[in-house]
Amino acid sequence: MNAFILPVGDELLIGQVTDTNSTWIARQLNLLGINVRHAFSVGDTHEEIVKAIGYGLSQAEILIMTGGLGPTKDDITKKAIADFLGVELFFHEETWRKIRQIYERLGKTAGESSRIQCFLPQGAKILNNDVGTAPGMWFNYGQKVIISLPGVPSEMKYIMEMEALPLLQEHFPGEPIAHRTVLTAGAGETELAALLEDFENNLPESIKLAYLPAYGQVRLRLSGKGGDEKSLNAILDSKASEMEKIVSRFVFGRGEKSLESAIGEVLREHKMTIATAESCTGGLISHKLTSIPGSSDYFTGSIIAYAYEAKIKHLKVKPDTLEQFGAVSEECVREMISGILAAMDADYGISISGIAGPGGGTENKPVGTIWIAVGSKYKTVTRKIGFNRNRAINIEYASNAALAMMWNLLKEELRPK
Ligand code: ATP
Repeated sequence: MNAFILPVGDELLIGQVTDTNSTWIARQLNLLGINVRHAFSVGDTHEEIVKAIGYGLSQAEILIMTGGLGPTKDDITKKAIADFLGVELFFHEETWRKIRQIYERLGKTAGESSRIQCFLPQGAKILNNDVGTAPGMWFNYGQKVIISLPGVPSEMKYIMEMEALPLLQEHFPGEPIAHRTVLTAGAGETELAALLEDFENNLPESIKLAYLPAYGQVRLRLSGKGGDEKSLNAILDSKASEMEKIVSRFVFGRGEKSLESAIGEVLREHKMTIATAESCTGGLISHKLTSIPGSSDYFTGSIIAYAYEAKIKHLKVKPDTLEQFGAVSEECVREMISGILAAMDADYGISISGIAGPGGGTENKPVGTIWIAVGSKYKTVTRKIGFNRNRAINIEYASNAALAMMWNLLKEELRPK
């Protein structure tokens, strides 16, 4: 069973709003075993919408539209659907009653523009919207289906979950699809692909492996399709475990977990603490660590030491070290580790100092040169990164790399082999 997702709205095409509706809908359809063939946006132009509906239905049995159901002039989805189906609009009394009720509750009176929202194409089966004014609609088109939903994500999700998804399940009982995601950090896509080459070549036809990289982390997603649900889940579990073993030194979890929460779990389990000494990341690493609920159990603090003087005064970096090697050096991040462990009385520390750019690079230390150290009382590990995209990406990449190094050190020191 195939679906086509068609979000409507000029705001999507001018880059003002990110189309998160399609991503969310695609995920839900996938869980039902419905294959999403295409998802593309169309602007608020009547002809374009009609054309896109026709194209969508030539590609898939299910067409899901979002947006353009409001009361303003640019909300023309209903007229476009009516014209595509060759039907008239009719006034839906029940929707009008609901809109008036909502307005009354707010101490206001529903005006003419709200009445416009109540004109729906003939043949619409109403999908209730209890969290907004515009109802969703379901249309049968031969053996195919058009579903039209409001653009506001919370309303769209409500109608999908309460009305559209159960109806779709009834209408199109599909093949099961399931996924397993293994999370890795500290290795690139190419390195992982080389390690997994034999594993990937020997996967059954029904199972596919996808590499989903994101700045220093790669999600390895196994997707399986067909057969009965129980055997599909069993084979995916066994293949995911096999894959996890092959790349075990980079694995930090499964599913949706973040690296910072994996680090937090190990620290909490062993009653250990962590602190950060940050220069070029300006606190991003500590922000990531403290974005995990309950991080006060193990996060003691951070010193953001940007200037030479701050590194000397608060992290006890030696002036000689800075003079001889510079702030972006292995020597400096090593001293920052000793400094932060002492200052914050922590068991583990992360330190980072680099040139995030766009300016500040030299021949010896070009933009993107970032030194990282992770350490404990017993051991400090350092790494130099030479990765340059733009300032924001350099900072994001370096903070993930630092967390990946921390994870490896914790695995080595705390986790049973
Ligand atoms: P309303 O009547 O409440 O305006 P609508 O169905 O007319 O709903 P739109 O006007 O198209 O919806 O969109 C309303 C808002 O919903 C947009 O301004 C935008 O913030 C958000 N939105 C619309 N489409 C999407 C989308 N595909 N992904 C994420 N957000 C979206």
